[in-house]
Amino acid sequence: MSPRALLAGGAGFVGSHLAERLLSDGYEVVVVDNLITGFVDNISHLRAEPGFSFVLHSAEDAQTLPGRFDLVLHFASPASPPRYLAHPIETLHAGSNATEALLNVARRDGARFILASTSEVYGDPSVHPQTEEYWGNVSSTGPRSVYDEAKRYAEALTFAYRRSFGVDTGVVRLFNTYGPRMDPDDGRAVPAFVKAALANEPIPLHGDGSQTRSLCYVDDQVRGILALAASAEAGPINIGNPHEQSLLEIAELVIALTGSTSTVELQPRPIDDPERRQPDITKAQSLLAWNPEVHVEEGLARTIAWFVANGTTRTPLV
Ligand code: NAD
Repeated sequence: MSPRALLAGGAGFVGSHLAERLLSDGYEVVVVDNLITGFVDNISHLRAEPGFSFVLHSAEDAQTLPGRFDLVLHFASPASPPRYLAHPIETLHAGSNATEALLNVARRDGARFILASTSEVYGDPSVHPQTEEYWGNVSSTGPRSVYDEAKRYAEALTFAYRRSFGVDTGVVRLFNTYGPRMDPDDGRAVPAFVKAALANEPIPLHGDGSQTRSLCYVDDQVRGILALAASAEAGPINIGNPHEQSLLEIAELVIALTGSTSTVELQPRPIDDPERRQPDITKAQSLLAWNPEVHVEEGLARTIAWFVANGTTRTPLV
């Protein structure tokens, strides 16, 4: 019998790629998603697969789903600043109530549990690059705290379930990930840049564009997540691409790859926007034998090709 995975947030960007890989690895996959920031389009190509099912439901109610699971993956949370600022309470619940509900499923079934945490737990870091040992520089009351602190709580809860109940848990800290199926309107740099470039419109750049990001292509990210799932490691483990670039460099690369006539338009910096982000991936390399493989030019070219083929407008909800 196929192993069974419960994937919360599977209609989202990262979750939909994970669903594909789990199916091709022989899992039966049950996606639970309330579509608060996801799109059924992201998984419509999977709905005919015999091992796939989609439940339109909040992850907070995961314990009511029938059957038992071998693997529980928690990828359900608004993830971009405009989206979690638009849904602050839901974001806190995704980190708190949904995490607890999914941990309870894992505990009930003796399943491995994987939490998608984030580089945002490091806040605006004063240590560079960020190792998993760095405790972070996070405001507990600023606008971004609804996401950052929810994830920090989710990590604490996951470790408490491991210590108190012996649940087999793994925490992965994802750094900026990009690729096909990103929401072009959710404020993240890559889809915003690609959308503007393809329309030959000004590319919105916050601040002076000198702040850095380290971009990881989604296929690399998914490989890292599944390597953690297949291991017995508790983490937290950073999965991201240490290749650091300024946002201006990324914008210029997108302009070059699209052959666009766009220019860059400087805009005010959001509050608590981190200055630099770069993962130290020594742990992922040594414990999971994982390394990113897709170079940013290749990954951006694939992403741009996807937006050219699928358009830069998404239809929300069912
Ligand atoms: P996304 O918004 O595309 O996907 C999240 C999905 O979760 C959506 O389909 C949404 O509808 C669903 N969801 C949210 N709350 C839910 C709830 N309570 N119940 C059921 N479904 C719910 O975001 P993403 O970029 O795919 O991120 C997926 C996960 O990875 C998130 O937990 C996010 O915090 C984490 N992460 C992503 C990145 C990144 O760069 N994409 C970086 C760090 C961490």
